[in-house]
Amino acid sequence: MFENLSERLSGVFDRLTKQGALSDEDVKTALREVRVALLEADVSLPVARDFVKKVQEQATGQAVTKSVTPGQQVVKIVHDALVDVLRGADDPGNLKIDNPPAPILMVGLQGSGKTTTTAKLAKRLKEKDGKRVLMASLDTNRPAAMEQLAILGVQIGVDTLPIVKGENPVQIAKRAKTQASLGGYDVYMLDTAGRLHIDAELIQQAADVRDVANPRETLLVVDGLTGQDAVNVATEFDDKIGVTGVVLTRMDGDGRGGAALSMRAVTGKPIRFVGLGEKMDAIETFEPDRIAGRILG
Ligand code: GDP
Repeated sequence: MFENLSERLSGVFDRLTKQGALSDEDVKTALREVRVALLEADVSLPVARDFVKKVQEQATGQAVTKSVTPGQQVVKIVHDALVDVLRGADDPGNLKIDNPPAPILMVGLQGSGKTTTTAKLAKRLKEKDGKRVLMASLDTNRPAAMEQLAILGVQIGVDTLPIVKGENPVQIAKRAKTQASLGGYDVYMLDTAGRLHIDAELIQQAADVRDVANPRETLLVVDGLTGQDAVNVATEFDDKIGVTGVVLTRMDGDGRGGAALSMRAVTGKPIRFVGLGEKMDAIETFEPDRIAGRILG
């Protein structure tokens, strides 16, 4: 995660911190390189531009360039700007699951990692928070997806709603709610159908389910490897369905991290978790401070 960007930035900042005295011009030159590095990482242009502008305002002028360790001061300013642009949720890992049974709606495109993420989060809720979780697949178009969730459920020891042929997603959501109430579950997770592209039917289906379930959290799962596309998908889902947070998957294979860096600034929605592999434990909460530290090495 972020290896390429990290490498590029460490090159820029190594030079800067080795240099004793710094002029405003040195800072500007370094920041031009930062801008290029951000764009190469597929950070959206306005986000990269605002980022560099903000850092430049703070990093040029007497206070920084005349300080004893000007290079390090600039790195500190960049670090804080990264934390700011990544602005996470106050407590990203803490899903709202008061008032049991709490519905959590999982939405996203097919192949984004939605079903895997549903199971990873269910496992986390069970093991970290001691919650009783019920998972239900609403993907009536793809019986294999429903079975995939059932198989993952067995693997992680989390119950899944029995599959009943012929039901539509809204009927399944209602049955999940009833089953969750009767069965004394704390949380029920609704894994909605995905498609390869956002279309009216996909959105309508997710909106119908949202309206009957009244979810406490609506988490959008997007593939981090798709960079700016991931941000566009998030903007569209949020406009049409309203999401409470984003889960970025495949960050284990993402050396650039552009989606992560642009997401909050463009969509206004926090990244709550990142997926870091196919295994059921390969999920982490998204903590900007730690991530900025990781980017700056
Ligand atoms: P869905 O169609 O959105 O439900 O996607 P799936 O959950 O079926 O995931 C599609 C593929 O991506 C599966 O092979 C998953 O194991 C894989 N996958 C999901 N999340 C991650 C992740 O964070 N990292 C990696 N490397 N693979 C993932």
